[in-house]
Amino acid sequence: MFNLILFGPPGSGKGTQSEKLIAKYGLKHLSTGDLLRSEIAAKTPLGLEAKNIMDKGQLVPDEVVIGMISSALDANPTAKGFLFDGFPRTGAQAQALDNLLELKEASINVMLALDVSEKELVKRLLKRGETSGRSDDTNEHVIRARITEYHNKTAIVAEYYRQFNKVVLIKGEGSVDDIFAALSKEIDERNKE
Ligand code: ADP
Repeated sequence: MFNLILFGPPGSGKGTQSEKLIAKYGLKHLSTGDLLRSEIAAKTPLGLEAKNIMDKGQLVPDEVVIGMISSALDANPTAKGFLFDGFPRTGAQAQALDNLLELKEASINVMLALDVSEKELVKRLLKRGETSGRSDDTNEHVIRARITEYHNKTAIVAEYYRQFNKVVLIKGEGSVDDIFAALSKEIDERNKE
């Protein structure tokens, strides 16, 4: 299995690059943001609880997202690898993911971390809000809250993987194709079967 974490703050391009990467490498895309939005669309109790938290720009409780990822891993027993997008977002989630993968005799091969300036992030998210239908993208206050959550709770996840030498920082500004090429190069170097 080849397991990849695409990491970076909100608006850093994880969704855009994930789509291209799963097509190229045949990985199963696991986005906790997408999974939560499906729960919201289906009006499940979990979705209703998550919506209130997401609309404030805060993180959904660890046990909720860990449970979703655990189910998704079990639901895809033949996947040749996973691309984790928007997960793990806390130290506890990173630890839980390692434990879940270990049960499957697998691990994270690499974390590719997209680096984008805060000014550019806010600009991109407000622009996405014009068309995405995502309520958390339309209000600059909520966008700033998400970036603050990222600095306070999520940035340390990179430290967790750095101790295992698994983190590569990728410049996340420039053309989509250039960023995709830089990500692909790192994967190709590590994914030699
Ligand atoms: P973005 O990266 O653009 O902020 P996402 O779609 O990844 O968007 O996530 C949207 C929201 O969903 C987050 O602001 C958060 O409230 C919630 N969320 C997504 N993934 C997680 C996670 N791993 N842990 C906690 N909350 C999460």
